[in-house]
Amino acid sequence: MNSWVDGAAGSSYDVDNLPYGVFSRGDEPARVGVRIGDFVLDVAPVAAGEMLESAHVFEAPSLNPLLALGRPVWGSVRSWLVGLLSDETERDLVEPNLVPVDDVQLRMPFEVADYVDFYCSLQHATNVGRIFRPDQEPLKPNWHHLPVGYHGRAGTVVVSGSPVRRPRGQLKPADAESPTYGPSERLDIEAELGFLVGAPTAIGEQVPTSAFADHVFGVTLLNDWSARDIQAWEYVPLGPFLGKSFTTSVSGWVTPLAALDAARVELPGQDPEPLPYLAVEQPAGYDIDIEVVLNGEVVSRPPYSAMYWAAAQMLAHLTVNGASLRTGDLFASGTVSGDDPGQRGSFLELSWGGKEPFGDGRTFLRDGDEVSLRATAPGSLGGRIALGEVTGRIEPAE
Ligand code: CA
Repeated sequence: MNSWVDGAAGSSYDVDNLPYGVFSRGDEPARVGVRIGDFVLDVAPVAAGEMLESAHVFEAPSLNPLLALGRPVWGSVRSWLVGLLSDETERDLVEPNLVPVDDVQLRMPFEVADYVDFYCSLQHATNVGRIFRPDQEPLKPNWHHLPVGYHGRAGTVVVSGSPVRRPRGQLKPADAESPTYGPSERLDIEAELGFLVGAPTAIGEQVPTSAFADHVFGVTLLNDWSARDIQAWEYVPLGPFLGKSFTTSVSGWVTPLAALDAARVELPGQDPEPLPYLAVEQPAGYDIDIEVVLNGEVVSRPPYSAMYWAAAQMLAHLTVNGASLRTGDLFASGTVSGDDPGQRGSFLELSWGGKEPFGDGRTFLRDGDEVSLRATAPGSLGGRIALGEVTGRIEPAE
């Protein structure tokens, strides 16, 4: 059944999508909204009117109270929303609470607890290995045995539309004897998916791959802005640090995991077979088509279906040592890159380490550049659903 909302039926925001965000309008307090067509449903007054037990969570300026309620509530709220927005008899009740999406401001939709970034694309990891360490095997011996990751900086995760300031730091070109300090000259993007944790765990608990959907509420597009020159000098031996931590952007809309059921696909294949705690029931991948848009031009089309490690494996690995989960934890997939050069999810790869200019003759990001990530996936109504876009514009170093 399609939505009765004007323009929503058959669009990429029909009732098979229903992403959540936090919006404000004028001086009104920020609160939870759900996107339907080109409107935002102001959920709080409708939920209060219908005396929904969870009504209070929609008045919050963050999704975290909803996230904390757990999967059974996420499911019942979603069914309730689908009913409201597809059953014509609900129109009189709901319509006064629809706000045109152009009239609202989207806020950071959740409070990030911890942030982890993985490295789960075989193609991306291989490309980066070849570019950074041309005289060595591109992949380290651990790569095929575990989803490699590092802890990022939760406090610098920002919502789409926030400016991205070019970072300064230590830079050391390969042929220089000692480092200098200055603005990054190799500022880059990383096209990724972010997974948002709702249901927490206690220290000592492990989350098996089969419990993935009990803990993960939804996904956002994520741009892991990266300063390659800072990164190349600092990353040995403890991994990424200041080359990544200055800004990470997420979309204002969080797509519920339930909306991606029709997008599930088998992983491309894992060899060797992972250890038993990483065994995962198929289909464990997601068929999500991403587009990287630079100043209005599509420069790459990374396919999420090519990812080697499943998100359920990332979560199982993240907790296998007993590390707890908190509501608002965010873990990202790592840059998504496919087999073809036109499917690479970073400028580092698109320009092959800065040696092969692409697009308008560029290698890395210039001040004033605007990058957007967009994505669609198969929806359950036979069409495609859209993930919320994530955009950022580069501002000059201070
Ligand atoms: Ca990354």
